[in-house]
Amino acid sequence: MKRIIYADNAATTPMSETAIKVMVDKMENCYGNASSLHTVGQEAAVVLQKSRETMAKYINAEPREIYFTSCGSESDNQAILTGIKVGARKNKKHIISSKFEHHGILTVLERLVKQGYEVTFLDVYRNGMVKAEDVANAIREDTALVTIMYANNEIGTIQPIKEIGQICKDKKVVFHTDAVQAGGHLPIDVAAENIDMLSFSAHKFNGPKGVGILYCKRNINPERLIEGGGHERGRRAGTENIPGIAGMAAAFEESCLHMQERAEYTSKLRDKLIAGLSKVPNSIVNGDLTNRLPGNVNMCFEGVEGESLLLMLDMKGIEASSGSACTSGSLDPSHVLLALGLPHEVAHGSLRLSISHYNTEEDIDYIIETVPQVVSYLRKMSPVWEKIEKGEEKSKLEQLKK
Ligand SMILES: *Cc1c(COP(=O)(O)O)cnc(C)c1O
Repeated sequence: MKRIIYADNAATTPMSETAIKVMVDKMENCYGNASSLHTVGQEAAVVLQKSRETMAKYINAEPREIYFTSCGSESDNQAILTGIKVGARKNKKHIISSKFEHHGILTVLERLVKQGYEVTFLDVYRNGMVKAEDVANAIREDTALVTIMYANNEIGTIQPIKEIGQICKDKKVVFHTDAVQAGGHLPIDVAAENIDMLSFSAHKFNGPKGVGILYCKRNINPERLIEGGGHERGRRAGTENIPGIAGMAAAFEESCLHMQERAEYTSKLRDKLIAGLSKVPNSIVNGDLTNRLPGNVNMCFEGVEGESLLLMLDMKGIEASSGSACTSGSLDPSHVLLALGLPHEVAHGSLRLSISHYNTEEDIDYIIETVPQVVSYLRKMSPVWEKIEKGEEKSKLEQLKK
């Protein structure tokens, strides 16, 4: 059988055994509607409450500040619409975000611009970081919301969330962070970091797909995206997905309890991978090397098309990505890499390997052996690379490194 090395954990993760067991148990034994008053319904209500307590506990929130949603994208949408609703009371119509947010944020903000809101998309520096002082400088009298991601999904850089939170608190601006990549992988304390709203998605921390949370501080009422019954304190209608929610809570608790050991293990593999692949000539690592998710490797190889690289790696059993799964299928290079200032030609040759605690040292050795072979094979067929080799065209990447 072909060996499969899954290295696309930023797109989604396999489910943990624990979460699967919990879900199967709830599907078999806890079919009630948590709103029903009878025993079966109340059993579901208990599971719901326990799951809420678990999610709250590990981010230092209160259970009533946790709202269950259907995914990270829903939480992001709800957070932004909540921010502008709060702002509307004081006629504030300005939002601050960054150029390299997930599409779950960017698309909503682009729509709001069309509706007359003003959005400042902060620049991202070459190291893949947003600067807290840029946030401070961008805040105006009419700023309703700041939304900056906790960790970037393509290049893994971890943003100065605590500093941004403090600035927003001092200036009394609502602060949301899309923490979908950070959830279960980095320690988060919403109180200490002054986070007003936060999004998580279970399938990024070995939980099931189709369930997430919006944490929303108690003094803020989330805007309703889905109207109906009084579920989730009247803020998100729909009969609760008990197996999914319980599976998420189990996966989250497991991730938090093993966070440190997994981060140490995974970041060692990551650093080995980066060191190994950096030996490929005309390659570059994207994003800060220290403020980085334990499992993220993102590189560009000049003279190579990211899509061809992916397909060939897939044939060799390595499952990777060129960036975000949502941009695959389009030929535009990643908006994240462009935001870092990479030229189109370089950004096109991107490869994201997002590894996890399930990967082994052998997996890493195999990737380090295989990627350079595939890159040189593809370069042999590349007219661009031929010109660079012959010195007829300057290497965009070498210019960039200067
Ligand atoms: C995956 C992801 C999302 C979207 O989460 P879904 O549950 O797939 O909707 C949002 N933001 C970031 C940073 C992500 O990585």
